[in-house]
Amino acid sequence: MSMNNQGRPTGIGTAGTGASGSALLPDEPLLFEIGDTEHSGVDLPEVTLTNDRLGGFGRSTRLDLAGLTEPEAMRHYVRLSRLNHSIDSGMYPLGSCTMKHNPRLNEKMARLPGFADIHPLQPVSTVQGALELMNQLSHWLMTLTNTAAVALSPKAGAHGELLGMMAIKAAQDAKGEAHRRIVLVPESAHGTNPATAAFLGYSVKPIPARDDGTVDVQAVKDALSPEVAAIMLTNPNTCGLFEPQVIEIAQAVHDAGAFFYCDGANFNAIMGVVRPGDLGIDAMHINLHKTFSTPHGGGGPGAGPVVLSEALAPFAPVPFVRRGQDGLELVEHVAGEALGRVTAFHGQMGMYVRALTYMLSHGADGLAQAAEDAVLNANYVKARLEHLFSVPFPDYPTMHEALFDDSFLNGTDVSTLDFAKALIDEGFHPMTMYFPLVVHGAMLIEPTESESKQTLDRFCDVMAELATDAKSGNSARFTAAPMKAPRRRLDETRAARQPILKWERPADLPQAAE
Ligand SMILES: *Cc1c(COP(=O)(O)O)cnc(C)c1O
Repeated sequence: MSMNNQGRPTGIGTAGTGASGSALLPDEPLLFEIGDTEHSGVDLPEVTLTNDRLGGFGRSTRLDLAGLTEPEAMRHYVRLSRLNHSIDSGMYPLGSCTMKHNPRLNEKMARLPGFADIHPLQPVSTVQGALELMNQLSHWLMTLTNTAAVALSPKAGAHGELLGMMAIKAAQDAKGEAHRRIVLVPESAHGTNPATAAFLGYSVKPIPARDDGTVDVQAVKDALSPEVAAIMLTNPNTCGLFEPQVIEIAQAVHDAGAFFYCDGANFNAIMGVVRPGDLGIDAMHINLHKTFSTPHGGGGPGAGPVVLSEALAPFAPVPFVRRGQDGLELVEHVAGEALGRVTAFHGQMGMYVRALTYMLSHGADGLAQAAEDAVLNANYVKARLEHLFSVPFPDYPTMHEALFDDSFLNGTDVSTLDFAKALIDEGFHPMTMYFPLVVHGAMLIEPTESESKQTLDRFCDVMAELATDAKSGNSARFTAAPMKAPRRRLDETRAARQPILKWERPADLPQAAE
């Protein structure tokens, strides 16, 4: 096997030829194809059922579970895990996703029994430490954003967006302004923004971007009316630019009686440096799984707490933690509550522990430094590549991500997609492609603060070599890529729309005798 730049083995056999002993068999069979349903991986004593207490509801057919030995099961999952790219195996420069290193200290803390082994229905007197942790996390999220309240429980950024917009809707209903049915969304927004507004029954009015990649302030002012409920704005925006007129936008939105929802997924670029509350935001979700280094992207669940301004604080959902006479309490009902709860229990406890660990181990100065390093790294990538790639918005320095468009590929027969696939063969996860939509053939690169200069240089060397090769006419390398991945080009749309999640007993395998 040859080793590529990132040290990942690349000599993977084609489907069906995987030599025995190869750790990277491309066709990993299903559990049911490794073990059969007739045998069990464990020795159990023969049971003679003497007293059926199930009232006739006892199972009469076999369970149809695959019987594997422990090493067979172990190897199956380890082999599967090796087919994936992960932040632990190489750089993952996916823009807008903040794929930073997840410090192992976070994991150690999350596994403390007092956090890991508690149950959401335990009496609160027995989980005071966990509640204190939630209280502290809330405190620091509000401090970092200068906001009045926070709802911890949403389980993803998109879930947080929904909650924030529900709070805005509740606030306007309470003021007798239910007629506000329009939400302004810049064209550069993440798809979850218009989807959230539409899900709540709002009609979405797009706001164009200016030629320099920032939101057109005049277009926002022109679109404001007594019918507008809110604007959903991302800052830094998805072109990687800090909106220079964000305060003017907030002022105009408030003057029109509307609210400012901020998509905070890009908080990593400004945490500890800018407090969004100072910019006039009313609600913002914070992706703990991006900015605060809790595992995501197949590595773990998300957590999307939402901070709320003074005006929206009364519309926060339950539950929340409050200091009472006998210590911390979990408030699960309030009189006249507008929203109730948005999750069954209290949210992702493990993510809270990891996020607070990240905050406390960095300190206020360390968080600001992380944001500044993230911005520095993105500008380094941009500076190293801008002579070979095309930069759609050259007027501003970039924030935490470097954005290129596909005009440098004009006349090469290589598309953004082909280019991204070629990066896989070099051992890197592709950048974000075709987003933001306002840029033709966009390539959005977010290196994050956790990559070293050596890694950034290796990445930039590969990117430069690929760009030079594409321009010199070697399109075959790109259109055929990936050659060294376990799979070639996949029908990703079909995989997402029609996933096959259930093993069906093949017709030629008879149902076992009862
Ligand atoms: C990631 C992201 C979201 C959605 O967050 P999820 O946790 O994936 O639901 C929303 N907006 C932007 C700009 C993002 O980058």
